[in-house]
Amino acid sequence: MRLVQESDYRFRIDPYGGMRVPGVVFASRALLPDPAADKSLEQVANVATLPGVVDASYAMPDMHWGYGFPIGGVAATDVDAGGVVSPGGVGFDISCGVRLLAADLDRQELTEPAVRGLMDGLDAAIPRGMSHRAVWTLHDARQLREVLAEGARYAVQQHHGVPRDLERCEDTGAMAGADPGQVGERAVQRGLGQVGSLGSGNHFLEIQAVDRVYDERVAGAFGLRAGQVCVMIHCGSRGLGHQICTDYVRVMERTAGRFGITVPDRQLACVPVTSPEGRAYLGAMAAAANYARANRQLLAEAARHVFDRITGRELALVYDISHNLAKLETHEVAGAARQLCVHRKGATRALPPGHPDLPADLHDAGQPVLIPGTMGTASYVLTGRPGGPAFASTCHGAGRALSRHQAAKVVRGQELRRRLEAGGIAVRGASWRGLAEETPEAYKDIDTVVDAAQGAGLCARVARLVPIGVVKG
Ligand code: 5GP
Ligand code: MN
Ligand code: MN
Repeated sequence: MRLVQESDYRFRIDPYGGMRVPGVVFASRALLPDPAADKSLEQVANVATLPGVVDASYAMPDMHWGYGFPIGGVAATDVDAGGVVSPGGVGFDISCGVRLLAADLDRQELTEPAVRGLMDGLDAAIPRGMSHRAVWTLHDARQLREVLAEGARYAVQQHHGVPRDLERCEDTGAMAGADPGQVGERAVQRGLGQVGSLGSGNHFLEIQAVDRVYDERVAGAFGLRAGQVCVMIHCGSRGLGHQICTDYVRVMERTAGRFGITVPDRQLACVPVTSPEGRAYLGAMAAAANYARANRQLLAEAARHVFDRITGRELALVYDISHNLAKLETHEVAGAARQLCVHRKGATRALPPGHPDLPADLHDAGQPVLIPGTMGTASYVLTGRPGGPAFASTCHGAGRALSRHQAAKVVRGQELRRRLEAGGIAVRGASWRGLAEETPEAYKDIDTVVDAAQGAGLCARVARLVPIGVVKG
């Protein structure tokens, strides 16, 4: 593989083997994965072989190895030119994403007993880890169908939230094209008892404070100011999304050959977007995306109740955006508008100011892009940039540097909790092992990753957040 540096934050993989387009990696030299330890650059090249792929197979600065596609991978296929959809380009946690809420509260107003009260309240109210609790336990598949079809809109209809929340959700809270009929029985069974639960490990609910504002005007439009207390929630579609991915990878492994498709890695199993199997997957995937949005809506409501009880203050939704999704979008390719299936896996859509899909009050600011760092470092709010490359996408986090297994060898959970609390970060974990796997050393340096993303022209910094307390899955 020949990796050519095109600029400070842009590297090109020239086509070889079956690559139909080049690979493009947005990273500093220091952030590039070590090919001896991580095969994600090879995965970028593999993705470039997919039928109908246009422009380039992209990778974001937080990239690392994933199932088929790298995490941090973005690739689009031309729907009308035999372009494919691949479940591996979305990932197992369909529509995993981030929601940020801003409190009507400054950090200085938050006393130590109040932080303790909030953390204990959240510890009790946020179902997570291996527990079988959830905010909602649905008893029949009919109600689950509402969740799958209507997402956060259904949760708000059921009085779990206010209508304004939906204006600040991607797709106003429900992705179009959801087809609950394409969701298998096992996925339905797994989904019934998990609406309103974080899940494990990497998922969290964090109390944060705005530590720095880079752009007052845009931050103001997002509802953010320096010193403000915020709540960040990271979770996805739980067992339901995982089962849908598993089911459709199997379907596509069986049927890809019928369409004359061969891929360099079985994990890239795919079929044309317009085939019955492709349509079925996209319908099931959108249903899982709606499940994830309802999930984050319910957890946000649970956090609101705790905030109200302890501080008497409200939490306003800044935005809710997923980072594991395939979407049908129109983009210009070689001077012509084309309908594309844009896979973002561990990558975040970043609409620039002026984009027609933005809500009216964000028209001049752009879309809030929510980037978690780690429980011991910073997180960021960014926005899209006009003419940004990679189909208006950017990174989704710091990105793993160590596997879970390696991370658990670096530190024990008990010791990590002591260390974080000594540094003024309250911790409510679900398991010691799970906590250790998420130690900040397990991730790349978020400040460096965001520097690279901005340096590459993918996005612009708006605000930096620091943790006050973390409720870990
Ligand atoms: P993923 O969706 O790939 O599992 O995780 C997204 C990102 O979340 C990771 O790359 C990491 O930077 C970030 N992250 C994981 N755990 C935490 C946490 O406890 N707090 C914060 N703020 N970020 C986290
Ligand atoms: Mn996830
Ligand atoms: Mn995620």
